[in-house]
Amino acid sequence: MTQTLLKLAVFSAKPYDKKYLRLAKEQTQVAVDVVFYDFALGRKTISVVQGVDAVCAFVNDDLSAPILQALKEAGVRAVLMRCAGYNNVDLKAAKELGIFVANVPSYSPESVAEFTVALLQVLNRQIHRAYNRVREGNFSLHGLVGHTLHDKTVGLVGLGKIGFSVARILKGYGCRLLAYDPFPNKAFEEYGEFRSLEELLPECDIISLHCPLTEQTRHIINESTLKLIKKGALLINTSRGGLIHTKSVINALKRRELGGLAIDVYEAEGDLFYKDHSGEIIQDDQIMRLLTFPNVVVTGHQAFLTAEALNEIALTTFQNLNDFVMGKACPNSLIKE
Ligand code: NAD
Repeated sequence: MTQTLLKLAVFSAKPYDKKYLRLAKEQTQVAVDVVFYDFALGRKTISVVQGVDAVCAFVNDDLSAPILQALKEAGVRAVLMRCAGYNNVDLKAAKELGIFVANVPSYSPESVAEFTVALLQVLNRQIHRAYNRVREGNFSLHGLVGHTLHDKTVGLVGLGKIGFSVARILKGYGCRLLAYDPFPNKAFEEYGEFRSLEELLPECDIISLHCPLTEQTRHIINESTLKLIKKGALLINTSRGGLIHTKSVINALKRRELGGLAIDVYEAEGDLFYKDHSGEIIQDDQIMRLLTFPNVVVTGHQAFLTAEALNEIALTTFQNLNDFVMGKACPNSLIKE
């Protein structure tokens, strides 16, 4: 007798996702038939889930209440997020519908932390401009003066796994470290000091965001908090785009109050990131304005993208699926009793 295969639909699946998920699948005990879709899960694509048992989604897939309702009606019983953040999942609706949801809470925080420091240094030492100049045969150093990180004060907003990893790296650079986190981790005392957000912002030469996107943190960087930031400070965001009120940051850059911005995430990234729009007329005027500043560096949500992280994400995703199928208590379940 043939065993009924569980059907898993993977959305927003890029070649690197497929590679690592296929490798992880070989190591899992779950009899699963995996179908990959390169497009995102949303209103226009939901029809493909008919007869699917579980979906695997990423940061820009839509898992709002209406989509979860439609998933439930199609027979989907589990949502496997292959990321840490889950601000795009309506957990309350999932719980009411009895849909299992799990994430990958920790996968190589060093991947994101190291990328954060790389972005900071690209911005600080103007490597993005130097790279373009040299390719054009322009070896002038005019306007490329940066700063040492040594002795600079860095403020970490959110000191979880990634924030802490950034702290460890920057300690090596000789930075003075401050952090704001409503749930302070005492282990940080070896590295720096905690401050309230209002105290931290005026003290820092560099501010790096590492808190999750929640109702409390949405637009944590806004018109009024920007006024507290020291003139000329650099702002780095590798966490979630919604932490920054983009229009206010553009204005602060135009007024030359903010010294520079490096972002791997953008509040309206859902329609843009992970796709090639190079032959199109991009309609988003805010991202296009940001790209015109010499002191702004933008990357397309790639801080996680290392072989190590992809491997851990894939293995944990299948572990979560295994727990769900076996009816085991899943440590990564986001549905709290
Ligand atoms: P984590 O849960 O370990 O840490 C988050 C920290 O933020 C916690 O210490 C928490 O107490 C703190 N926090 C909660 N509310 C806060 C608030 N109002 N103000 C300040 N701090 C607050 O998470 P992590 O693994 O360090 O990841 C942090 C974030 O990084 C994720 O939520 C995700 O959005 C983002 N991320 C981005 C990428 C990328 O590729 N760019 C990859 C992974 C994670």
